[in-house]
Amino acid sequence: MERCPVCQARLKQDPACPRCRTDLSKLLAIEEQADAWLHQAFTELAAGREAQAKHAVEASLRLKRGPLASRLRAFLAQGLRLSSSPPFPKKAQ
Ligand SMILES: [Zn+2]
Repeated sequence: MERCPVCQARLKQDPACPRCRTDLSKLLAIEEQADAWLHQAFTELAAGREAQAKHAVEASLRLKRGPLASRLRAFLAQGLRLSSSPPFPKKAQ
């Protein structure tokens, strides 16, 4: 989280907003949990455990919508066919 969701002030290390003093510690904890789930999803994917990876990325997205988690979910939804074709087709030149 870069900006306060209440007043849009740029945030620093402090869990309270420097402008409106909103306590953001719970939100920051949720964001941290979402990142931990996303990390778990990549760990599961690396180990070839697709179902667990899907579960972890869904758990991450329930807490926070991010572009990386969204794309990982889309990637997993295609189904992994690691042995046959590459997951991303080459663009036409
Ligand atoms: Zn604020």
